[in-house]
Amino acid sequence: MRTVIVGAGILGLTLAYDLARQGAEIEVLDARESGLGASAVNAGWVVPSEAAPVPGPGLILKSMKWMTRKDSPLYIRPSADPSHVRFMLGMWRRCNARDFRSGFQAHLALCESTNDILDDYSRDGLTYESHAQGLLMAFRDADNLHHHCADLDLQRSYGLDPQILEGDSIQQAEPVMRSGLAGGIFFPHERHLDSASLTASLRKRIVKLGGVITEHAQVDRVERVGETIVAVRSGERRFTADSFAIAAGAWTGRVTDLFGVPLPIRPGKGYSIDLSPAPIQMSTAVNLSDAKVAMTPYDGRLRLSGTMEFAGLDEDVNRARVAAILRSPAAYVQGWVTPASAPQAKAGMRPMTPDGMPIIGRLPGTTNAYVSSGHGMLGVTLGPGTSRALADLMLGHGYPPRLLPFAPNRFVRRVKAMPALTPAS
Ligand SMILES: Cc1cc2nc3c(=O)[nH]c(=O)nc-3n(C[C@H](O)[C@H](O)[C@H](O)COP(=O)(O)OP(=O)(O)OC[C@H]3O[C@@H](n4cnc5c(N)ncnc54)[C@H](O)[C@@H]3O)c2cc1C
Repeated sequence: MRTVIVGAGILGLTLAYDLARQGAEIEVLDARESGLGASAVNAGWVVPSEAAPVPGPGLILKSMKWMTRKDSPLYIRPSADPSHVRFMLGMWRRCNARDFRSGFQAHLALCESTNDILDDYSRDGLTYESHAQGLLMAFRDADNLHHHCADLDLQRSYGLDPQILEGDSIQQAEPVMRSGLAGGIFFPHERHLDSASLTASLRKRIVKLGGVITEHAQVDRVERVGETIVAVRSGERRFTADSFAIAAGAWTGRVTDLFGVPLPIRPGKGYSIDLSPAPIQMSTAVNLSDAKVAMTPYDGRLRLSGTMEFAGLDEDVNRARVAAILRSPAAYVQGWVTPASAPQAKAGMRPMTPDGMPIIGRLPGTTNAYVSSGHGMLGVTLGPGTSRALADLMLGHGYPPRLLPFAPNRFVRRVKAMPALTPAS
C-alpha cells in the first residue's frame, strides 16, 4: 500500500513512521521545511494529567475578563466572519462539566499507552531529548487549586497518582518554588521531551525505512474519481497513492476543503522562548497554572511557553504577550530575574476544534482519505497514541474503539460536490 501524508509535523511524522514500520510505502509532503511551527516550539510535555479539552466550566467568564488585557494569556480577536462565530459558539456550548469530563476521559484513553509507545520508539532506535521527572501544577490562587482537584478521580482512575501539595509543601516537588503559594498538584509519571529532536529522529528513521519526505510541496489540488482520491497536486507536481492522510495542523481545514470536507479547525497561537543557559536549575516541568505559562527544563536551557490567541493564520509574534510570559515566573519561583531584553520568541499555531477534541478517522465522502488533526494543546501528548490507532485503521486492522469519540463525521453535515479533477485535467 502506498500512502501520501500531507503535513510533516508531529502528527504526520508519527503516522508515517507507524505505517512505514508495518511495510507501507510512504511519502510525506510539507508546504515548507518539515518540523517547524507548533511541532517545534511546543513545551514538549507528555502529560495525560493535563489532557482536558480547552472548553470547560468557567472558560466563558475567564475569557471575557482576559479579552480586555493586552498581555493576557488568552485572546479572541473579535470577528464577524461566520466560520469564526460558528467556531466560538460551538466552543462555548461545550463549556459545561458533562462535556468537559467526557472529553477528558476520551483523551485519557487515547494517550493511556503514550509512555509505552515512546519506550517502543527508543527501543527501535529513535533518539531524542527526553526527561521523566513528572509535572508540577503550581497555584497562587487557592480557588483555582481546589477547582483542579475536582477531576482528580479521573486522573487517579488512569493511574496518574496525583499528589496534592498544600502551601509550602509544593517545594518537596520543586525546591525553587516560592513560599506563600496556595500549593500544587504533582503528577510523578509525566514526561517532557524536545519535540524538535523527536521529529528530526522520526524523519531519519522514516527515510531509513524507505519512506520519502518531500519539502516545499504545498498541496493545492486533489484528483478524485467519484469518492476515491487518486492523487494530490502541488502546482505541476502530482503525487498518486492508494490512501491519503491529512495532518496539516492549523491549515487542515483549508486542506480538507480541497477534499470536499471543510473541517472547523482554527489556529490557537502560542509562543516559546528559550533561555540559554538556564537561569535557574529546575528538577521538574512546572505549569504556572494561574498565569497559564509552562516552564520546561531541558539540557542547558529553560523553555517558557504560553498564550492562546484565536486570531489569524500567521506566526507573527506579539511582543506584549511574550513579555508577560517572561515576567510570569517571578510570582512563583525564587530568585527569578526577568530578562531585560527579550530573547527571540517563536510562534506556533495549535490546531484547535470547537469541542476541544482532535478529529481522527476517514474523511466522509471519500473511500481512502483520512484526517489526523485538531490536537490543540495536546499534539505531543496525544500524537503517539493517535498515530498508532490510525495506522491500524488505515491498514485494515479494524476500528480501534478509542478513536470513536474523534470521528470526523461529528462536524460534517454535508460533503461538498467536488468538480471532477482527474489525471487528464
Ligand atoms: C506554545 C505551544 C506549546 C505547546 N505545548 C505542548 C505541550 O507541552 N504538550 C503537547 O502535547 N502539545 C503542546 N502543544 C501543541 C502541539 O505542539 C500541537 O498540537 C502539535 O504540534 C500539532 O502538530 P501537527 O502535526 O498537527 O501540526 P503542525 O506541527 O502545525 O504541522 C502541520 C504541517 O502541515 C504543513 N502543511 C500545512 N498545509 C499544508 C499543505 N497545503 N500542503 C503540505 N503541507 C502543509 C505545515 O507546513 C506543517 O509543517 C503546544 C503548542 C504550542 C504552540
